[in-house]
Amino acid sequence: MRLSDLKPGETGVITKILGHGAFRKRVMEMGFVKGREVTMILNAPLQDPVKYSLMGYEVSLRRAEAQLIETVPVEEWEKHIEDKLHIDIETGEPDGSSVSKDKIINIALVGNPNCGKTSLFNIVSGAHEHVGNYAGVTVGAKAGTMKYKGYLFNVVDLPGTYSLSAYSPEELYVMRYLREETPDIIVNVVVASNLERNLYLTSELIDMNRSMVIALNMYDELEKSKSVLEYEQLGKMLGVPVVPTKAYSGWGIDKLLDTIIEVYELKSPDTRHIHIKMRPEVEDGVRTLVDSFKQDHTLSPKFSPRYLAIKMLEKDPEVERMLKDYSNYKIWCDIRDKANKKIEERLGDDANAIIASEKYGFIQGALAETFQNGEESSEKSTKIIDTFVTNKLFGFPIFLLVMWLMFWTTFQIGSYPMEWIESFVSWLSSEIGEYMADGPFKDLLLDGIIGGVGGVIVFLPNILILYAFISFMEDSGYMARVAFIMDKLMHKMGLHGKSFIPLVMGFGCNVPAIMSTRIIESQSSRLITILINPFISCSARIPIYVLLCGAFFPHYGAWVFTGLYVLGIIVAVLTAKMLRKFWFKADETPFVMELPPYRIPTAKATIRNMWSKAKQYLQKMGGIILVASVIIWALSYFPHYGIDDVPQNFYEKTVAEMPESTLDSYSQDELAEIIANEYQQENSIIGNIGKFVQPVMEPMDFGWKTCCSLLAGCAAKEVVVSTLGVLYVGDDDAELLADRLNTPSKTTGIPPFTPAIAIAFMVFVLLYFPCIASVVAVVKETGSWKYGLFTILYNTLLAWILSFISYRISLLVF
Ligand code: GDP
Ligand code: MG
Repeated sequence: MRLSDLKPGETGVITKILGHGAFRKRVMEMGFVKGREVTMILNAPLQDPVKYSLMGYEVSLRRAEAQLIETVPVEEWEKHIEDKLHIDIETGEPDGSSVSKDKIINIALVGNPNCGKTSLFNIVSGAHEHVGNYAGVTVGAKAGTMKYKGYLFNVVDLPGTYSLSAYSPEELYVMRYLREETPDIIVNVVVASNLERNLYLTSELIDMNRSMVIALNMYDELEKSKSVLEYEQLGKMLGVPVVPTKAYSGWGIDKLLDTIIEVYELKSPDTRHIHIKMRPEVEDGVRTLVDSFKQDHTLSPKFSPRYLAIKMLEKDPEVERMLKDYSNYKIWCDIRDKANKKIEERLGDDANAIIASEKYGFIQGALAETFQNGEESSEKSTKIIDTFVTNKLFGFPIFLLVMWLMFWTTFQIGSYPMEWIESFVSWLSSEIGEYMADGPFKDLLLDGIIGGVGGVIVFLPNILILYAFISFMEDSGYMARVAFIMDKLMHKMGLHGKSFIPLVMGFGCNVPAIMSTRIIESQSSRLITILINPFISCSARIPIYVLLCGAFFPHYGAWVFTGLYVLGIIVAVLTAKMLRKFWFKADETPFVMELPPYRIPTAKATIRNMWSKAKQYLQKMGGIILVASVIIWALSYFPHYGIDDVPQNFYEKTVAEMPESTLDSYSQDELAEIIANEYQQENSIIGNIGKFVQPVMEPMDFGWKTCCSLLAGCAAKEVVVSTLGVLYVGDDDAELLADRLNTPSKTTGIPPFTPAIAIAFMVFVLLYFPCIASVVAVVKETGSWKYGLFTILYNTLLAWILSFISYRISLLVF
């Protein structure tokens, strides 16, 4: 019977994992090993993937993958349990790698995804790194420091990994980090409520033989479930001190730091090196390899030979890469092949499977002696919520409702604080306008800084609300469910359920979203997800939509908004399909993703997250947007012309084109000033640039000032609005930018924007050149400037075409 044959509620015992390579290894690391009970919980709304529970946690598999796992009913299994679990602990020599007695301790946080490493890191180092209740939130290593009892701790937060093998980019990263940086102490963070799976990584770290402390995090969940763990006893068995912590509140951190110092100073009574003994066939192979390694004195001592031997038997590509330049590599390969052959012949399974099940056997044995399961309270509520959220009928409507609520709150609730900031900005500029003496400095302050930065800062509340939503979805665990219910649809686009998370994050900002694609194991799915991410409308584009919708579509702005977001999504979907068809070959990566229990985000964490976003936004204001506004202002101010510099023929030409209304309502002197202003702008540096580009945009009737704002928007999309603010100055400085875009120009009588132009403009802004930071992120994450170039050219070309089409359609409608 295959795992996929189980009906909801049925339980089976695993007898064999079929399939090959990466999938097999990954599912075994996740706990799908021989003898393990698995219960089928439910199908995703579209019947695929399927949610299972094992070892007290939940995981989803695609139906096709579940087909590769052989099971038997529980009763049948119990009849012939042949292999008894055995643990044998053998003491080796302690590792002396941290005897350097200075007072600086380098620490690396290593653990499964979503175990609270970043929360711990934030507490220890006072940082505000991003946490979230799903796998793969942290990408790359983050470093921080703290002083404690006269020691300086250098703490590094690493991405989450299930094991130390070269399966996903993150695992590779962690493994290389541990090899190259050789931290003094590894703090292995494990989830107290899900020990069995978490300790698998611990067992690999034990093989590595490094100084280590285990942080038993989320101890609150263990307490709540009334389970009992004799963690001190467990620490003695593992040879690694265990300290319970609650990273979200800081409980237990002092004890953890004390223990780290103890281990570092070699004073910890619990620290000793153990060998997790495996079956004789495996141990034979390991021993022969270790002996051979020990004879080679050129071999780097950074990894323990036992670890290398085990990984060699597992055919870990990274370890093979590491060793292949040694002259003895051929000999080692021969030893390995012989050992593997023996293992397969005698045990009927390959080394990978045997090693994984031996390790789980060791863990089970250790837990059997120290752990007593209580009632499972958080699991129950998770099950209840999941019956609705991943339900066939309600799953999608609930998701759409959440999305709609997110945008509605962002724009409706956000509009109140926005008005307050808006009136403050106009109050400020009218005060300055009144009390400051005229001159270039006043112009700079009013038109450049307040016109530019002030125009953008009003959107701070909207952006904070949006981030609060995204952060809640991440922290609660809902995001992982979204990936679960979306997998089938994403599969149709040639992508993966996990690709959906970066897309939702893209509503906040495309840069971290692009980085978060590292949770996707398949390289081609990851590249596609990166390339389509810029089409997801980020929060920096919100100011533009709010501005133009407010000015031109006051009554059905929400529809235009939604339409733009939907257009972005459609373009993303079609692009993904196209890329899959013409550029990347199809691939079938397994959908293995942990579904963590729901957790109620703490107010502290949410506020910290919002505060760090607000800070980032304000820094962006004070940085790139301020600088861009000043540059744009300077480019429009120089070379500077006075009223007397305006040539006679320009004056006459402009007057001839002027509408009656202007001629009637202004005196001769005022007219001269208006015309001088126009002359200044048109002949300034930016005027020349804008007029140079403008012909390209002529089919959409974008004015040259509008073109300038698009050029400037390449730096950051908010700059589009600030540039419009600087270039379309009104005569009354307190006047709102939205009104200025709407009123006919005094010199030509034509308003710079009409509803149709506004639509074409928003479509263009949605799709064209993503900001420089996104392009850099694309290049960095794909490792090739070619993809960056593709993004720039493809997106801009597509933007032009769709903008043109939407302009022509809008002209018919309005
Ligand atoms: P990482 O992926 O290992 O970096 O984990 P994060 O630090 O991002 O945390 C994952 C989730 O667990 C977040 O939602 C945290 O708020 C939550 N969390 C962290 N520590 C604790 C804890 O001690 N108890 C509980 N109940 N939740 C925690
Ligand atoms: Mg993290």
